[in-house]
Amino acid sequence: MTARVLVVDDIAANLKLLEARLMSEYFEVLTASNGPDAIDICQRGLCDIVLLDVMMPGMDGFEVCRVLKSDVRTRYLPVIMVTALDQPSDRVTGLDAGADDFLTKPINDVALMTRVRSLVRLKNITDELRMRASTSKDLGVEEIVEPDLEDVDQKRGKILVVDDLAASYERMVRTLSPDHEVAVSIDPHSALLDATDDEYELLIISLALQGFDALRLCSQLRAVERTRSVPILLVTNPQDEATLTRAVDLGINDYIIRPIDPNELKARVKTQLRRKRYNDQLRDNVQQTMRMAVRDGLTGLNNRRYFESHMEANFSKAQINNQPLSLLMLDIDHFKSVNDVHGHAVGDDVLREFARRLSKNVRTHVDMACRIGGEEFVVIMPKTDVRLAQVVAERMRREMAAHPFIVEGGSKQIAVTVSAGIATMEGEDDTIDRMMKRADDALYEAKKTGRNKVVAKAA
Ligand code: GH3
Ligand code: MG
Ligand code: MG
Repeated sequence: MTARVLVVDDIAANLKLLEARLMSEYFEVLTASNGPDAIDICQRGLCDIVLLDVMMPGMDGFEVCRVLKSDVRTRYLPVIMVTALDQPSDRVTGLDAGADDFLTKPINDVALMTRVRSLVRLKNITDELRMRASTSKDLGVEEIVEPDLEDVDQKRGKILVVDDLAASYERMVRTLSPDHEVAVSIDPHSALLDATDDEYELLIISLALQGFDALRLCSQLRAVERTRSVPILLVTNPQDEATLTRAVDLGINDYIIRPIDPNELKARVKTQLRRKRYNDQLRDNVQQTMRMAVRDGLTGLNNRRYFESHMEANFSKAQINNQPLSLLMLDIDHFKSVNDVHGHAVGDDVLREFARRLSKNVRTHVDMACRIGGEEFVVIMPKTDVRLAQVVAERMRREMAAHPFIVEGGSKQIAVTVSAGIATMEGEDDTIDRMMKRADDALYEAKKTGRNKVVAKAA
């Protein structure tokens, strides 16, 4: 894992020191000695993460952080504030300014690497999600909704503490329970189960469990799907540095050293929760947008884009497995006159009701109903021969014609009929285009010979 790290400090010796340490871990390092230069480098997209000194003449670190976090070009850049040890209030100020993490001077090597690597890992996930988001935008879909960081911080967190020392976990519970729901797992053997059992957002694990290897637990938690993306905050002792390095390799997200400073614990918990929620929400939004990309806005059916990709997939699958495949093409009869007589809004109501009746009559998880044009619909019917397709199509035709469509909240009833054409896959050298053409021809024949009718077309 490599990344471009920007180190910002007004003292040249500090820059040199951090640069050397980061380069020995194969990070690419850029430096800036004041706020404006740092902001410029960030805005030009030259770095992946920022190590930001708080105490600088002119523009201080908090101010730089606020600027970065309020600019769309740089708000995703993880910022680690570097504060003086004797200024614990700086941590809170830094988090308020939007900082993602903080380090205290003099900077400890393990601390530096843990923070940087954990944030780089997180940034990779976020970048990946954002890339998918912009791909969906290229497809002509709405923009992905950005999670609101204010909202993300509001909710009480659900936290599981894994610790078998009463004095230790009681103190953590006391510190955290005003803001969060905290449960404790005192038997490390059942901790894995406890962690998967509920929707925990953060796991705080003591490294010093009696007769139990906490790192094994961490590695198991990373292997299980349910807990893979739940952040882990490890509680360590000052002498645990070597173990800590391995823990970071296993994928823990953060650590805190005993004796625990309550403010530091609160701040680290807050950061971990914020990151998890931000990514979870972004992931949800991306998925939601992806779903929307293949859905027709008016009727909620699958759209033409969906139809095209799924027709292809179903066609090859049917050919490979030598199974039948039918395609049903439907077109509402004299729909133009519905619009002309009752208006476009009523036309839309009719389309929605048509889609509802269509969905009700296709087989769930088997058939795929799509709206491919204004009042043109198709149903892909896998494993369906022409006779069965005719039965299904006839049922749909009747479903539309049997009861008038009720529109405008019940004030109007409109008789609606549909014509349908069926094509079935014919042998090895059939193609999707030919099938579509046959379905279209069949539909045309249904229209020509009276409408409100189903016609199946042989090859
Ligand atoms: P036919 O029986 O031959 O199919 O006649 P038709 O009137 O249904 O066919 P035509 O293709 O001439 O007209 C389709 C109409 O569908 C024209 C268009 O205004 C209307 N339409 C297409 N999309 C929408 C839509 O989203 N909402 C509404 N309300 N009308 C639509
Ligand atoms: Mg029509
Ligand atoms: Mg038409």
